[in-house]
Amino acid sequence: MKLSRRDALKVSGAFVAATAINACNGIGVKTPAKETIESSFVEFPKGNMPRVVVVGGGWSGLSLAKQLKIEAPQAEIILVEQRFEFISCPMSNLWLVDKIELEYLTHDYLQGARENNYTFFQASAYGIDKKQKILKTSNGDIEYDYLALAPGIDYDYSAWGIGKTLENRLRNEYPAAFKPGSEHMTLKNKIANFQGGNFIFTVPAGNYRCLPAPYERACMVADYFKSKGLKAKVILLDENNDITIKEHGFHTAMQELYKDYLEYVPNAKIQEIDLENKRVITEFDEFTFEDASFYPHVRGAKLLEILGFAKDTIYNRMEANIDPFTYEVIGEENIFVSGDARPMGFSKSGNTSNTEAKHVARLIARKINKQPAIKWESPVTVCISLVSIKPERGIFIHSEYAYNQKAGQFEFATPVTDEIWRGKHGEQNAASAYDWANAMYLDMFN
Ligand SMILES: Cc1cc2nc3c(=O)[nH]c(=O)nc-3n(C[C@H](O)[C@H](O)[C@H](O)COP(=O)(O)OP(=O)(O)OC[C@H]3O[C@@H](n4cnc5c(N)ncnc54)[C@H](O)[C@@H]3O)c2cc1C
Repeated sequence: MKLSRRDALKVSGAFVAATAINACNGIGVKTPAKETIESSFVEFPKGNMPRVVVVGGGWSGLSLAKQLKIEAPQAEIILVEQRFEFISCPMSNLWLVDKIELEYLTHDYLQGARENNYTFFQASAYGIDKKQKILKTSNGDIEYDYLALAPGIDYDYSAWGIGKTLENRLRNEYPAAFKPGSEHMTLKNKIANFQGGNFIFTVPAGNYRCLPAPYERACMVADYFKSKGLKAKVILLDENNDITIKEHGFHTAMQELYKDYLEYVPNAKIQEIDLENKRVITEFDEFTFEDASFYPHVRGAKLLEILGFAKDTIYNRMEANIDPFTYEVIGEENIFVSGDARPMGFSKSGNTSNTEAKHVARLIARKINKQPAIKWESPVTVCISLVSIKPERGIFIHSEYAYNQKAGQFEFATPVTDEIWRGKHGEQNAASAYDWANAMYLDMFN
């Protein structure tokens, strides 16, 4: 007799229960009832509607889920995200220095799902049965017709040639805070409680998440130390040979506003991190620190590697193995990857992920609606960085991309930068950062 998937889950639930009871016999440990174990397998019975399962409720996944429902209203959309609530990385540098409240960055996944007619499912995806088209998650299996993966990035400490013990200490004691949640909270506490001395930040090489954010963060923290009258200095160790974006604006702000509070060090490839003596040794120098936050290289989120959809690229390790024009996983049909996990050299930014996700949603919807595919459309990068808090002053870049056939890569096609941060002009740029963020949160959640 052939078992249905439902029967299989029942059998596995009963088996787990029986095993647990046997294992615990005689040692007086209370085991959960069979019904409890079975009911922990949440199921979404699949009807006739086409179903898209989106994994990752970040800037890409949220935008994708919403747009899919607009483009293919007859489809059922399930967004799988491991976190309980959304905390925005964009604008978080302002929260680190008490400029905005955490509430401004935090948003409600359930609201986003209700407003946009899809289902939010809080679970961690960990596997796939490609034959049966089943995604495996920590809270149960889900059948899919189309799978859209937007799991973002993970950190890659291997470039520093350090062992696991040091890596784990860095993750716990000196987190990068380039992924939302506890890392940001740890960093905020470090900054708030800093008594003086050197505070080291690092900038990795490669296509790391949000090119301007480490420079913006260094300016924000230097401004914060300065306004508190601390005898403190931010040391920004950059593995790159110069500031990677909006360099004129950042350089001038660093020189004119934070001369005694911020030291920018290019070509600072880290060779050793000595936590016992609080020393960092680079190719050319040695720095001591009172506190620090180390930003390592980035890689595609581990989920892609686990599912077998990752490859090493010229930009970063283990990013999505996709066709750069259709976003479809190479060798798979109807499985897509978007957002910061992509291998294309687009800026790893929220605006890029949001605009790209809308395009990918259209591609998937065309398949669902049995319409011919549409041509590749460039994502749009918009990035406004603040360089000072009092008054708030900012600089920005806006660009689309084009494919350079000769170089075999995507490049900025229409970059427009505004790096004038002095006077009213810079204050207007800073104000537009809030306008942008407000518009994006509305776009993703309402
Ligand atoms: C300090 C800072 C400032 C920034 N400033 C800007 C800015 O001003 N403008 C801008 O445009 N961009 C900015 N960015 C960049 C922006 O945050 C990212 O580019 C954007 O979040 C990428 O979107 P994503 O959906 O690919 O990844 P994420 O937003 O990271 O989302 C990925 C999601 O997938 C989930 N996930 C991963 N694995 C699993 C799994 N196995 N199961 C279930 N869920 C999973 C994660 O929990 C996460 O919620 C900034 C970033 C930082 C860190």
